[in-house]
Amino acid sequence: MSRLLIRNIGLLQTPVGSAPLCGAAQGENRKLRDVCIFVQDGIIIGIYDGGVCPLLAVDREIDARGKLVTPGLVDCHTHLVFGGWRQHEVPLKLQGASYLEILQAGGGILNTLNSTRSASAEQLYERSKGFLNEMLKLGVTTCEIKSGYGLSAKEELKQLEVISMLQKQHKMDIVSTFMAAHAVPPEYKGNGDGYIDRIVEEMLPAAREKAAYCDAFCEEGVFSVAQCRRVLQRAKELGMKLKLHADEIEAIGGAQLAAELGAVSAEHLIATDETGIEALARGKVMADLLPQTSFYLDKPYANARGMVQAGVPVAIASDFNPGSCPSYDLQFAMRLGLLKYKLKPEEILTAVTLNAACSIGLGETLGSVEVGKQADLVIWDAEDLDLVLYRFGVNMAKAVIKKGEIL
Ligand SMILES: [Zn+2]
Repeated sequence: MSRLLIRNIGLLQTPVGSAPLCGAAQGENRKLRDVCIFVQDGIIIGIYDGGVCPLLAVDREIDARGKLVTPGLVDCHTHLVFGGWRQHEVPLKLQGASYLEILQAGGGILNTLNSTRSASAEQLYERSKGFLNEMLKLGVTTCEIKSGYGLSAKEELKQLEVISMLQKQHKMDIVSTFMAAHAVPPEYKGNGDGYIDRIVEEMLPAAREKAAYCDAFCEEGVFSVAQCRRVLQRAKELGMKLKLHADEIEAIGGAQLAAELGAVSAEHLIATDETGIEALARGKVMADLLPQTSFYLDKPYANARGMVQAGVPVAIASDFNPGSCPSYDLQFAMRLGLLKYKLKPEEILTAVTLNAACSIGLGETLGSVEVGKQADLVIWDAEDLDLVLYRFGVNMAKAVIKKGEIL
């Protein structure tokens, strides 16, 4: 048995509960002052505020020195298992080529496809482990990882196998998402429907054991609503939970499809209009918003405020990937949430902790600092969340605790 006491917490700020928070509740955080937290075997056993700290026999104590403590951050949308980088697309971007133009010219995802296919599982594992280590330092203690750079049965399973090795061996809690419907591979050029047949008939049945979620890229020039519906319906029949990349560039009905199929989340939603927002609210679909991608592609920002007002639970994630967002800095995404989405600090904290955890099915055990939940915590180099969000270009996480272990 291991017992840890974190004492002298100036402010403990956390959302409360195990279900997604929406509307006004998204902005309600519990704030306790002069707190100590007692952890046993990685689980929070006691939270005491008002300067009361019972005498407890512990193996280790941490002095938080009056700083802010929040739940560990949850990054609920990444594509972090990939080969290569895409820095050579920077000059094309500067000449004004769009994301879809680069993709159509054989760059973009197809470029990463080649680098990922030519890397071994061990090489991908080592590289991804390095990314996860850096994310932990930034306060991210849980993340989701999507496949989607293999685009054949063998190569997608290789990516899922790498994710499963990371799940077994890395400290980070990881949720795996199968996303073969990320782009049409060159073998099926001009035959998107043929590739969808392949996903539905062969790839999904093989992937179901290795991934909890299935995702698809519903976008003009990528996969249509009808094609995504086929993939997700089959995934649902196989017992997988659903996510959907929707309305990133054009609103072609992705949000409505996510609601229709009972998806857990719709992701991106930059172009989602009011009808789409209403559909998300009615379908109780989480909006996973990715402000770093808007920043990097120099695109508009999703209507986060409109979504909160309409009662859509909002999560914020990094979208770390080699094309549209080469950064896993969830702290920067939080700062964009403040500056560009104009969300309140409390709403942002809910978006990167409890709501993000619910978006990957982990709201019962993670996403808030409460008795009975796993002790995933960040001690910030700040007295309050305003200071964390106000600074940028710096890592404000001072210490990260994962399952009661100080990293
Ligand atoms: Zn994505």
